Amino acid sequence: MKRLFVSDDEVHGDRLLLGGSRLHYLRNVLRAKPGDRFMVVRENGEQQLATIRQVTAEVVSATLAAPQPLDTEPPIRITLFQAVIKHKPMSLLIQKCVELGVSAIVPLVTERTVVRLGPSRRAAKQQRWQQVATEAARQSERAHVPPVSEPVEFSQAASSWKAGPGLLFAEREVPAGRLTVAEALKDHRTCRQVAVFVGPEGGLTDSEIELALRHGLAPVTLGPRILRAETAAIVGCALVLYELGCMQ
Ligand code: SAH
Repeated sequence: MKRLFVSDDEVHGDRLLLGGSRLHYLRNVLRAKPGDRFMVVRENGEQQLATIRQVTAEVVSATLAAPQPLDTEPPIRITLFQAVIKHKPMSLLIQKCVELGVSAIVPLVTERTVVRLGPSRRAAKQQRWQQVATEAARQSERAHVPPVSEPVEFSQAASSWKAGPGLLFAEREVPAGRLTVAEALKDHRTCRQVAVFVGPEGGLTDSEIELALRHGLAPVTLGPRILRAETAAIVGCALVLYELGCMQ
């Protein structure tokens, strides 16, 4: 059954009124007609069955059934801090990490970020990444759409994360030695939030890694093979969710 995220201002009692791009999607893409049903996911994360009453050139109206809980969100919030990489692998990792259950994605500008990001491109990219996240959340039956923010500086993000354990995935040895994901989370079984940091195609610089460790991030290995950034993000998030019991 088709699913749509709807905002509270599109709902009036048990009536749903959709215009704009949703109207186009329902009317012209799905050829929706009265009697057709689809599932809507509300801002509070509940789902409601919608039955279409009317399709006009201006609006699709539908009747909403009683809300039901949608219990698909992991109990622990993972924020993925991901260095910006080329568009295709960036989109791929956003899609997969949203399917897996990350709660937010913060793109990072690092010393070795090769993608050029002027102010107008930042906003345009953010919108495209957000579309990917929204579509993945819809497809994987998430109750909430993970927000993708505009890119921020690595040093700022790494120095300000304080909400829970922060894991910095490092593909080469660091002086203090690296932990496995399990070791890094050993004393944090009951945490509410975890941050995962992954570098760009060219890796993080020694000074970036130093700065992050100074601010309390834990250096973590994913094994002796060098993974592409997108592989590291997807596998890293999956292992964190698995370790914290969010994949049962
Ligand atoms: N070009 C770099 C590799 C960068 S890999 C080099 O050859 O040195 C891109 C990012 O993926 C890294 O910054 C790191 O965050 C993550 N990564 C890749 N392989 C990893 C591994 N084996 N363990 C931990 N992190 C890894």
